[in-house]
Amino acid sequence: MTPIQPDRAPLPMPTSVPASGDRRRHPAPAHLTFFHGPMDCGKSTLALQVDHNQHRQGRHGLLLTQGDRSAAPQISSRVGLSRPAIEIDAGTDLRLLVRDRWADGQRVDYLIVDEAQFLSPGQVDQLAELADESHVDVYAFGLTTDFRTSLFPGTQRLLELADVVSRIQVEVLCWCGLPGLLNARVVDGVMVRSGETVVVADTAPAELPGETGSSPAVRYQVLCRRHYVRGALGPTSAGPGQLALP
Ligand SMILES: [Zn+2]
Repeated sequence: MTPIQPDRAPLPMPTSVPASGDRRRHPAPAHLTFFHGPMDCGKSTLALQVDHNQHRQGRHGLLLTQGDRSAAPQISSRVGLSRPAIEIDAGTDLRLLVRDRWADGQRVDYLIVDEAQFLSPGQVDQLAELADESHVDVYAFGLTTDFRTSLFPGTQRLLELADVVSRIQVEVLCWCGLPGLLNARVVDGVMVRSGETVVVADTAPAELPGETGSSPAVRYQVLCRRHYVRGALGPTSAGPGQLALP
C-alpha cells in the first residue's frame, strides 16, 4: 500500500483541546475569551465554573480580580462560591505576573480574569500577547456597560481583541419582569446619569444597620432599556429585580 503523498502528508493537527497537560507543548493556539453582561448575571459564578473545569483536566491557572475589598482577595459569586484570587490594579503588568510564576517553576496554563471591565486597554493588549506569544488561555469576565450605558474601557478593548466574545445568557430581570441589560447608579434613592465611571458599591439596598455616615448611599440596579431611559426604579427602591446579598 503506497501513501498518496508519502513525503507531503501533513502532521495531524489536534482536533480538540488536549485532555491535560501543558498547552505550550502543543501547536494549538491559545485563545482570549470574553464573557460579558450586566450586574448579577452570574459572571463570577461562570468564572469559577470555568476554573473548575480547567483545573479538573490537570491544568493550572491563576485567578485575578480587581476591586475586591476584602483583606484576602477572592472571586466570589452571589450563589456562595468563592476562590482565592490575586488582586491586580491598573499598574499591574500581566505578562510579568505570569512570567514571575514561571520563573518560580509554577505552571500557568490559563488565566481567569474577573472584573475585566476595570482593565486598562493596555492590560487587555497584554492578555492578547500572553495568548499569542506564551500560549496562555485567557478567560475574562466583565460588565458590558457602565451606569451611563457606555462601554467600560477594558470591555471595549476586549470586544476589539478577543477571539471569542459571549454575552452571558443568564437573564437578569428588571423590576418590570423584562430582561435587564443596563446598570443604573442610584445615589440616595435617585438614579444619576453622570459622575465618575467607577464608584464601587453594594448591589443590595445601602441602608445597612449601623451605617450612618454622611457620604451618599450609592447602589446599582439593573433595569431594562425602557425603564433606564425613564429613570424608573420600580415600586420600591429594592424592587423585585434586585438580588439581595445574604
Ligand atoms: Zn423594566
